[in-house]
Formats: sequence, C-alpha cells, structure tokens
Amino acid sequence: MTHSAPPTEGRTPAGGTGPDDDRAARPGLLMGRLLGVPIYVSPSWFLVAVLVTVMFEGQVHDVVTRPLSYLVAFTYAVLLYGSVFVHELSHAVTARAFGLPVRSVTLHILGGETSIEREAPTPGREFLIAFAGPLVNLVLAGLGLLLHATLPLPDVALLLIEALTFANLLVGVFNLLPGLPLDGGRLVRAIVWKATGRSRNGAIFAGWVGRAVAIGCLIAGAYLATYNTGEGGGIGWLALLWSALVASFIWVGATQAIRAERVRDRIPLLSARRLARRATLVTADVPLAEAIRRAQQDHAGAIVIADHDGKPLGLVNEKAVTATPEHRRPWISAGDLSRGIDDHLTLPADITGEDLIEALRRAPATEYLLVEPDGRVYGVLAVTDVDRAFAGV
Ligand SMILES: [Zn+2]
Repeated sequence: MTHSAPPTEGRTPAGGTGPDDDRAARPGLLMGRLLGVPIYVSPSWFLVAVLVTVMFEGQVHDVVTRPLSYLVAFTYAVLLYGSVFVHELSHAVTARAFGLPVRSVTLHILGGETSIEREAPTPGREFLIAFAGPLVNLVLAGLGLLLHATLPLPDVALLLIEALTFANLLVGVFNLLPGLPLDGGRLVRAIVWKATGRSRNGAIFAGWVGRAVAIGCLIAGAYLATYNTGEGGGIGWLALLWSALVASFIWVGATQAIRAERVRDRIPLLSARRLARRATLVTADVPLAEAIRRAQQDHAGAIVIADHDGKPLGLVNEKAVTATPEHRRPWISAGDLSRGIDDHLTLPADITGEDLIEALRRAPATEYLLVEPDGRVYGVLAVTDVDRAFAGV
C-alpha cells in the first residue's frame, strides 16, 4: 500500500551501513521472484491469516459444513492477500514501465509495501505509480459486483466473491485517503508538486495531511468503540485497537515523510572535509593499545594502517576498537581490527552534498579514507559523524 523511494525511507540517506542493517533490510520470508522482483512475506502475515480464517469461518459455516468451512475461510484469507499483492504488483509494474528499478515487494500485517529504487522524476509519473495500486482494487471490486449480479453461482462462491469485493473496495478506498504514507497522500503530493513546481512542498503538505488522517482514523475508532460496546461488546474495542494500530502506522509514516524532506535540506550542506576526523598512521603490527595512545596524543579520532612509507593500507574499525576490552588491547595488533582500503573506500577530501551521499551509498562502510588531490591522507570520514550531521546534533 505504501511504497518507498530513498531518501523518503525515513533513515538518513547515509544510513544502512553496518552488518546489522543488512539483516534488517530483509523484510520477511522470500516467497519467490516475479519479473525479477523479490517477493517477501512478513512472518506477521501468517498470524493475520489464521485470525482472518477463524473470523471468516463463522460466516462460511452458515453455508458449508465443518471442517470444509475452514478450508474455504483460509482460501478467503489467501485471496484477500492476493488482492493486496496485485495492488503492490500494479505499483511495481507501473514503476518499471517508467524505468524505475523495483527493489522488492513485501506483504505485511497492515498490507504491503513496494520498495522502488529511485523517486519518480515528474509529478505526473508519481501520480500514475501511486494511483495504479488502488485502481486495481477498485477494478477488482467492480468485477466482483458484476460477477455476483450476473452469474448463477453456488452459495460458497457467492460468499467468497462478496467478501472479496468488500475487501478490495476497502483496500482501494483506504489507500486513497489523502495523507502520506498512503497512496492518496502520494497523489496529493504529486498534485502540489505539479502546482508549485517543487516536490518538497508536496511531500511536506501531504505529510501534514497524513498526520490529520491518522488523528481522524483514531477518532473514528473511538466513535465506533463508544457506540458499539453497549450491545455486542467486544467488536467496539477491537475496532478501537485496530484503528489505533492503523493510526500509529499512518502517523509514523507521515512523520518520516516530513522528516525525510528536512534531512534532504541538509544534504547540500554536507562536506567531507568539515566532518573529517584527524587520523593517526600506524603500521599493522603496532599493538592496539599503543595505536590508541598515539591517536590520543595526536588528538586524532581515527587510526589508519599504513606501510613504512606512509602509504595507507587499512582503516581501523572504531566499533571493533570500543568492543575490545582494555586488558586485551596490548595483545592485539591494530592491523587485526582493520579493513583493507579499496578504491571505493577512498574519497576526495573535497567531496560534498549529493556526491558524498552517492559515494557512501555505492560502497557501504563505517569509515572512509579522505585524501587530498595530491594523494596525501587528509583524515577519516566516519559514517556515524555523517548520520549525526543529518540528525542536526
Ligand atoms: Zn499502494
């Protein structure tokens, strides 16, 4: 239902580097690939599938005997997510048609997410990519109504079609709510972008509308809870709980969209030279404790491994250093905690703005060597410092 393109993903554009982030980047179980796009299903989906099966079985039981009714109810759960799946696929196919690479499609507890490599270059394309998802659901709902009205089908089939028609209508309409991170928010964003000529204005506006939609969602849930707890009991509270979950999802997404724009504002101000740490050069065989002592003496924030001629060979990983207990530091050589320098880890000291972000994205690492045009080492750029600059600390 939502789809992300960097740097709208909420993280700082330089983020996503350490080995931990690699794991976090895998959003669920890989179910297969379609048109080369990996399809993931979050483990939470299986829980929801069981819940949907149990809840829907109550209705199915009126027309089919047990245990077959469970199979029919489970079929509904699968078809329901099939509707979400075609929604996401529709975003993905449209994005691909415009030449934007699609990273993945993920189905999770609140629907789905299509991760697109780049942002749409024009508001028109942005509009079409966002609209493609809900459009498919509305078309499916229309087809369901048509089938239901025209074909003489058995009761089970009619019940499934009714339920699916309603589900697609709900998915389609819900996603058209006008705030980010929902598709409707992307439509609003595209319209404001077109009207003002700046995508930033559209995103900030649609982000604030998203926050309003989140609050509206919570109020609607509270209203349902108040009016339904009298008779029937549980349903009202379930509605409140569910709307609170959906509202927080929208609120967080809207806030991230607004924050991503503010982060983006800082990009042109980034300068590797200004963020650089002074580096102490040591040979690989120097004990870590001694390398740290020399770095402290030089007031340096980084240790670079060099050969006897001063040619840089490796970068000592700061995290690995802090993770090494003090009593072991005299017995480990600095070279053991270093990563060899290849071309991607060497950046010109004068690199700034988008170029800097692009370089970090191309070769994710925790530290980079900064060199002067004549090849001399200027210092070390630590990604944690770049992240801090984004956070505005
Ligand atoms: Zn969508």
